Amino acid sequence: MLTFDVTHCTLCPRRCGADRTQRAGVCGGRDTIRAARAALHHWEEPCISGTQGSGTVFFSGCALHCRFCQNGVISAELTGMDITTERLTEIFLELQEQGAHNINLVTAGHFLPWVIPALEAAKPALHIPVVYNSGGYELPETLRALEGLVDIYLPDYKFYDSETARRYANAPDYPEIAEAALTEMLRQTGTPVFDGDLLQKGCIVRHLVLPGHRHESIALLRHLAERFGTDAFLLSLMAQYTPMHEDAQYPELNRRITKMEYRSVADTAAALGFQGFTQEKSSASSSYTPDFDMQGIECK
Ligand code: SF4
Repeated sequence: MLTFDVTHCTLCPRRCGADRTQRAGVCGGRDTIRAARAALHHWEEPCISGTQGSGTVFFSGCALHCRFCQNGVISAELTGMDITTERLTEIFLELQEQGAHNINLVTAGHFLPWVIPALEAAKPALHIPVVYNSGGYELPETLRALEGLVDIYLPDYKFYDSETARRYANAPDYPEIAEAALTEMLRQTGTPVFDGDLLQKGCIVRHLVLPGHRHESIALLRHLAERFGTDAFLLSLMAQYTPMHEDAQYPELNRRITKMEYRSVADTAAALGFQGFTQEKSSASSSYTPDFDMQGIECK
């Protein structure tokens, strides 16, 4: 059961207290779901995208506001269209009809009071797993409301160092929040369960290697291995960091990562015994960012 007061929102760790009937919170969310695209997506991990694609719904807004966000058009600029809970239920079923291997909710946390009823209405007709794709900055008590509705969690684990989290996302509490969130996600799903090549249940933890931060990435992996073991979740180690603009305030972010940086982190992951996914360095391209063109959002 989700505790939520639309006039004083404390859904996420920002706990900004916005009256969402009157104004947007830090996340940009008001009291109506807003989404920018609902389509088959082929660029998730292979066990999520499969051959037919993941039925991905991209929600507008985000509570985290990372300096290096690759999806700023929807997360900060709020490109998208307001839709009803009923329309969202239809979208889930349309994606299933199109052959999606799963329903993939991207950054839905700030709309959960509306997304949960949409999922509850769709769930009896859904025969594919539901994936919850998140920046990892979530309150365990909010996540608990998703128990039984979400089959696969796909959280980022962005920062290990509180100072890095403060510098790039104004969220010095990110490391402890992300750890508590992952603990709750793992409690709900247990260890990964596959049907053939496709994941049906479990967690995939994504970590994007940032330029100049390989030592922090390595420290994070060692911590995760110690805290959770290496069999609890799949690890997806991402090399796709792309500077989206020239950032005068954070010049260290104005380059892609080097092969050496990525390789040193990937070698650590392998040595620790993590299973999961690594990326070719050639994937570092803004072409991996989809067009947020309202595809699949409008009523048919
Ligand atoms: S979900 Fe949005 S409005 Fe609610 S506390 Fe978080 S940032 Fe504020």
